[in-house]
Amino acid sequence: MRIVDIRERSASIESDIANAYISFSKMTVSVVAVVTDRIVDGKPVVGFGFSSNGRYAQGGILRERLIPRIMEADPDSLLDADGLLDPIAVSKAALSNEKPGGHGDRAVAMGALDMAVWDATAKAAGLPLWNLLAERYSGGRADETVMVYPGGGYYYPGKGLDALQDEMRGYQDDGYSVVKMKIGGAPLKDDVERIEAVLKVVGGGHNLAVDANGRFDLETALAYSRAITPFDLFWYEEIGDPLDYALNATVSELYPGPIATGENLFSHQDLRNLLRYGGMRPDRDWIQLDPALSYGLTEYLTVLQVVDQMGWSRRRFIPHGGHQLALNMAAGLGLGGSESYPGVFHPFGGFADDCVIRDGRATLHDTPGLGVELKQVLHAHLRSILELD
Ligand SMILES: [Mg+2]
Repeated sequence: MRIVDIRERSASIESDIANAYISFSKMTVSVVAVVTDRIVDGKPVVGFGFSSNGRYAQGGILRERLIPRIMEADPDSLLDADGLLDPIAVSKAALSNEKPGGHGDRAVAMGALDMAVWDATAKAAGLPLWNLLAERYSGGRADETVMVYPGGGYYYPGKGLDALQDEMRGYQDDGYSVVKMKIGGAPLKDDVERIEAVLKVVGGGHNLAVDANGRFDLETALAYSRAITPFDLFWYEEIGDPLDYALNATVSELYPGPIATGENLFSHQDLRNLLRYGGMRPDRDWIQLDPALSYGLTEYLTVLQVVDQMGWSRRRFIPHGGHQLALNMAAGLGLGGSESYPGVFHPFGGFADDCVIRDGRATLHDTPGLGVELKQVLHAHLRSILELD
């Protein structure tokens, strides 16, 4: 099996939505196709990947550094013992001559590329990606369904409490149990009213998570903590700056409910520091590292080694991003679940067209690879933008 071409493009996911920190009016993602010479059903195997939302496309890093290193590598050095593409070897080649630390846009670029390589490998192996992961890393055990929750409740221009309630009611009508809304983009008093409005329609705090998107200083974080403690929420997410571990630790001492964070940490080293210094509590808190922003599934395998070494359960990990990669990884690696984007970031957010959500859990696909082909709008968009036939 040989890589014959790697294509990358930038794609728009612009929309009117905003969280407490950014608007998505100019948001883009990188999309990647890894074209191979392996023929399955009369066609070359092509792996697809894309970066997750929130960090913009990274075409320069892909074009000038990561992709040339793979194309210049000895093709045999990129294969496993069965002659399939070895995503770990490909990642190593792509990231050669990169200094440690500074995990940022490079991690986003690699996240898109790594997803495409894993998709190609699973397709060549004839297995759904979740199944391949279970075979290789979980003793063949995979979860049949995955806990999912919709990332929603954004601030839109002119969006009132009725519209927010309708949005949340809609998610539960679609089969979700836990829903999530943004906070920190309005004054505390207004956010409390928004939370109370949503609680009226979702059945209680155990079905509602709130997300501050790293907005709060310590004083604001603690004011919100006091205000929301009585609601007994599912989680309180990304309270302060992603790298302010002391702030997170202080809040965790004073806020009794679960805290979630990690979507803006891009490496196993950063995750280890969060677990060392962030005050995260293994009995209740949640980690949201997003593989499609943090060097990909390959890096996440190292993340899970850190998780195991530090005595955490993999079930406390629910990746950010609402993409099919996280869904596959949750099922095949025994994670706690995956975010879902039924309403935003189209066509990249969301799962296969025939994916069923019931009682807050999603079903998996049974075709080889990541399942991109089963999301028709996404597949057509990728083929078009990457100029494939
Ligand atoms: Mg978040």
